[in-house]
Amino acid sequence: MDIKLFNSLTDRIETFVPLKPNEVSIYVCGPTVYGDPHIGNLRPVVVFDVLRRFFLFLKYKVTFVSNYTDVDDKIINRAISEQKSEDEIAGRYIKAFNDVISHVNALTPDIAPRVTEHISDIILYIEELVDKGSAYVVDGDVYFRVSSISNYGELSNVNIDDLIGGARIEENSKKESPLDFVLWKKTIVGINWNSRWSNGRPGWHTECCVMINSLFPNGKIDIHGGGFDLKFPHHENEIAQSKAHNGNLIANYWMHNGFINFGEDKMSKSLGNVVLAKDIIEKFGGNLIRLVLLGTYYRSPLTFSFEAMETAKIELEKIENAYRQLAVALQLKNIPLFDGQNPEIEPFLKCLADDLNTPNAITEVFAIIKKANAALRQKDVDYSMLRQLLSNIGAMLEILGLKMEFPILSEEDKKTHADYLKHKTDKNFAESDRLRQILMAKHIL
Ligand SMILES: [Zn+2]
Repeated sequence: MDIKLFNSLTDRIETFVPLKPNEVSIYVCGPTVYGDPHIGNLRPVVVFDVLRRFFLFLKYKVTFVSNYTDVDDKIINRAISEQKSEDEIAGRYIKAFNDVISHVNALTPDIAPRVTEHISDIILYIEELVDKGSAYVVDGDVYFRVSSISNYGELSNVNIDDLIGGARIEENSKKESPLDFVLWKKTIVGINWNSRWSNGRPGWHTECCVMINSLFPNGKIDIHGGGFDLKFPHHENEIAQSKAHNGNLIANYWMHNGFINFGEDKMSKSLGNVVLAKDIIEKFGGNLIRLVLLGTYYRSPLTFSFEAMETAKIELEKIENAYRQLAVALQLKNIPLFDGQNPEIEPFLKCLADDLNTPNAITEVFAIIKKANAALRQKDVDYSMLRQLLSNIGAMLEILGLKMEFPILSEEDKKTHADYLKHKTDKNFAESDRLRQILMAKHIL
């Protein structure tokens, strides 16, 4: 199956060609761990989780990496104000982030490196950039020399003249050019490490290049992902460093997900309209959040509202009910549920192969749910069809990461169901109602 992806680097839809056949390496910039994750943090988690699950379903060998930025001014400030170590602060919010991603049923990354685990790699990488003339030292700080590479701005298409013009206002006399960015910052405030230039800590843009360089041959991967806001300067500066260091652009495909708006506004801490992930998980559950996040094409902005969540709740119940009813109907006939059944979900897969068009894929799920409901209502139920439908829905749920369960019927449950039907036919309503209650409580009816 040809997979088409929108490549932010070329601004085009392209056919995905992996570096190695049937393998894919994906790196997604992870959170800066200084506070509780909000719903905006969940969008890349869910989007790239579906991409990963899609490749897994197609039998690719997937290596999925997402980092934790555990060196940052915000972490240091928090550590100072709480009189704790940076490690404690980062540890607390890494845990909070992991709680949240497991609640939205995202697969754990194969590798989840922390910046603090890669400091010696980072220092070595910067030393190499200095040796190559692509970085320079001023008073213990190290800056990347943007003029040492060609085509700066090719990912984000920023206008370099505008950047230079805009930067003059906040002039930094230490830098050769306003475009240059910090690789190593001299400081003894907060967590810091010794280097040949000074005691200090790395700038944010270096960590991902270094981790990718450490984990993958030649520092080259298939797909680099993250939120749209990372395109500039973060990803642009990653590309700049990798060009100078390795002579490549890190990834063949760059994918960026859109923002989340809250009503009319962009969700942000400064606007005070941030919805914490743990709060909406508690209120709505992980499946519903996934369904809502995947209901919008990943590159488009997504407007979050509680009304939309309520509407999606009804949609989710439709899927759950059909899935459950199929499984129950088969079990009542003692028919094995999944053995030897290959899912037939070509139209669904085609939607995902079309630049991860999850809203269209969800429409395909509902087309199958409709078929399932019709098949269940037929006078002469076609049980082999029910098996096929159950297998199809199961596979689609797996790829979308929607975790649903159905009751496993015991012999006693089956007997209760048979008794219920008998009492109902005999118009023994008191008893059939009593059994119906029992069966409903077990989600069998
Ligand atoms: Zn990054």
